This record gives sequence, C-alpha cells and structure tokens, in this order.
Amino acid sequence: MAERNTLLAVFAHPDDESIIAGGTLAQYAARGWRTALICATRGEWGPISDDSLANYETLGEVRERELEAACEVLGISWSCFLDMEDGGMAAVPGTEEEERALKKMVRTIRELRPQIVITFCPDGLYGHPDHVAIGQLTTTACALARDPKTFSEHLTENLPAHQVPELLYATVPQGQYENLIARLSDAGHTTHLWGIPPEQFGIPAGEITKIIDITPFLDQKLAALRCHRTQIDDSHAFFHLTRDLAMQYLGHEFFRLAAREPLLATKD
Ligand SMILES: [Zn+2]
Repeated sequence: MAERNTLLAVFAHPDDESIIAGGTLAQYAARGWRTALICATRGEWGPISDDSLANYETLGEVRERELEAACEVLGISWSCFLDMEDGGMAAVPGTEEEERALKKMVRTIRELRPQIVITFCPDGLYGHPDHVAIGQLTTTACALARDPKTFSEHLTENLPAHQVPELLYATVPQGQYENLIARLSDAGHTTHLWGIPPEQFGIPAGEITKIIDITPFLDQKLAALRCHRTQIDDSHAFFHLTRDLAMQYLGHEFFRLAAREPLLATKD
C-alpha cells in the first residue's frame, strides 16, 4: 500500500495549532494529506474567558472538547495528548516524564511516518516555556526516530526508523502582532493578545524561511480559533478582526526550516 503523505503538528496547548498553523493544516488536508496533531497538555491552567464555560476543575476537559471541534474544522484526522502538565513542561528535561513523552512521540513518528513535522520555533512564539519545551522535545524526537538503535523494541512491532524530511518551526515575524494591535487601536478598539505584550511575539523577519499563503483557508482558521472559546474573551484582538485585518495579519503562516540545526541532539 502506498504511504499516504502525512503532516504532523506538535504543540503544547489546545489552540496553539489554530493560532500558528491552522491555515497550513487546513491547506494540507484539502490537498489530501493526512494531518495529525500531538498536543502536549490540555491547557488545564490556562485563562478562562467566561466563568460559565469552565472552572479549574473542568478546564482540561473543556479544552479537550474545544480542540476536538477545532480538529474537525481543520480536517485533522488523527490526534493524541502527551498528558503533560500545563505550565510544567520546562521542568521535564532529564526526568522520566521526558523519556515517557519522547517514547510516545518517536512511536507516533514511526507509525505515521510524516514527510513534514511542524512545531514551535525556539523563540516559543513569545517565550512561553511550554512552547520552547515542546519545540525542543519535538526536535529531539525527530532525531531519535531516525536512529534504529533508539527504542529498538519498535522494530519488533514493524515500526522501523523514520527520517522526517522536513522539520519546520512555526512563528511569526516580529512586529506582526504589534502592528495588528496598533491597527485595532486606530479603529477605536482596546484589545490584547492573551495579555501578552505584542512586541514579545516572533523572530526577525529575515530568519523566516517559509511563508505559506493561507488566505483560501482563512475562514477555516478563524472558525478553528473560535472553537477555543475559553481562550478568547471579548477584548481579545481576534474578536475584533475585520475581514481586511484578518487577511492582512492572519492570512499567512510563517516557518523556519529546522534541518541541520545543532539542536538535533542524539541520544546515547
Ligand atoms: Zn500555547
């Protein structure tokens, strides 16, 4: 049987996939690729936009359902969680928890055999420690998945080593979100982006190596973002986007090719 082209996205929280790569995921699904998602946490300690939607006993479950709805919108046909703790991922390197997560990620890579893997850029989009950590874990998992000596028990399950041809780090160009907030301010809206200073987002534009025009899939991206209702309150910038602003500021997705980085650690 011919292997189906597969794109695997690996992010930290439900909503990361829609914010940073939703249009790309929708575009590849529309081309007939299988699109898959590993989400490290359920975002159970994240903000709650409206008390009627969740509390801190239910937020993880509610966000799991929000993610299911977003996957449906984006055409993501396979997904799993790593069951890591929201906000706790920076403490994981060197622990058994890291070994457990890597084993699951390597197994997934060997099962799905993706041509493209997308994760967070080392900047973590705005320095979020969970985002930085999942980018590092994914980079390590890709390096381990291609080494037949690592988790060699997979071989007995007919899961041979797999080299991911293209590992892409998702981010935005610096200034992108700052300009968006300024444009909304000019239009009379006082808005925010999850309460994070907009100048903290992204990397210098010159470091971006791949820009995907997702304007034909913008409606799907916006619909997927709206699935994450607990994360977008009514003063969030995305709540106030006109069509023009959405096209201009969310109509492209940005990546840096990660191949041949020193970050590609190998495990002994
Ligand atoms: Zn996140």
